[in-house]
Amino acid sequence: METTKSQEPEKTKLFHLVVEGRDLPIYWMHLEMPADATLAELDDFLRDTWLECCDHLSAFRIGKVSYLSQTEDMYWEFDAPNSTAEEESGEEEKEDEADEGELEDLSPVEMVEGLFEVLSAEFQSDLADVPLPELEAKLSELLTTRLGISLTPEMQSQVGNLAHYLQLSSSLFASSPQEQDMDVELDEVLKVGQKFFHEYDFGSTTDLALRVVAEREGVLPEDEDGDAVLVQVMAMNEPPVIPCRSCGKPATKVAAGYYYVGDGALCDACAKTNRNEYEDSFLPIVNSPRVGVCGYTGGQDYVYWDEDEDEEDEEDAEK
Ligand SMILES: [Zn+2]
Ligand SMILES: [Zn+2]
Repeated sequence: METTKSQEPEKTKLFHLVVEGRDLPIYWMHLEMPADATLAELDDFLRDTWLECCDHLSAFRIGKVSYLSQTEDMYWEFDAPNSTAEEESGEEEKEDEADEGELEDLSPVEMVEGLFEVLSAEFQSDLADVPLPELEAKLSELLTTRLGISLTPEMQSQVGNLAHYLQLSSSLFASSPQEQDMDVELDEVLKVGQKFFHEYDFGSTTDLALRVVAEREGVLPEDEDGDAVLVQVMAMNEPPVIPCRSCGKPATKVAAGYYYVGDGALCDACAKTNRNEYEDSFLPIVNSPRVGVCGYTGGQDYVYWDEDEDEEDEEDAEK
């Protein structure tokens, strides 16, 4: 692409977006980015700024259409010598084989998704319509023949639970024409005034609400190296103060695993004295709607208690 007027920086259509925590609107940002940027690029920005902990799946919901960070043919498949029937989905394999995960790299949700895809292909129908005993039998067969796991009676009952769960999840995972990937330009699916949504992690989900506030012709700002800055943060909320659950002073860390971040929030002093026994790792308080969720640290370090000075005291007490 050649620009004839090299002195004049090229103008492009820019969208002004506002994004906020869907349930936590105290967290918000005003962004500006090119209208021809993709949903994937916006997803990358949201992950970098507010969300990324362990590479969970994410999706935009715009109207009735879902735009997924991973689509069906990118899902991990059972890769065993006698697996044959998986390639008959009709879709061409376009994705890099290098992206395929190994079993040990998968989160439980991704494993369930993998199982779901394989079983859907085996039965060629919605898993919710398959009789549960048949589904259970096929699932046992997959685990024993393909993964070489020999099932104990206890595991067999777990397989029953898993089969049931897969049926319940079918509405969540079932693919439909209303699902696409994120390789779509904002301009193609959004217009001024439109509201849309983003979900990160379909387990401990962080929900964001977004809206296109305005558009204008403008020039992309450049960073110090002269590279265009794709997403400009024009404004962002001040970090809200989360009170320590024990003394009410501003908290600095939060015990992982609470539904409400305030239930796990502690200041440094109270974290030493008022920590519950089972709270062995803490997340930093960060300015994000994902504060305290899963392993989200916002780029800061985990706080483990064995790094703390009261370690010796605890060890003494245990003797
Ligand atoms: Zn995570
Ligand atoms: Zn405190």
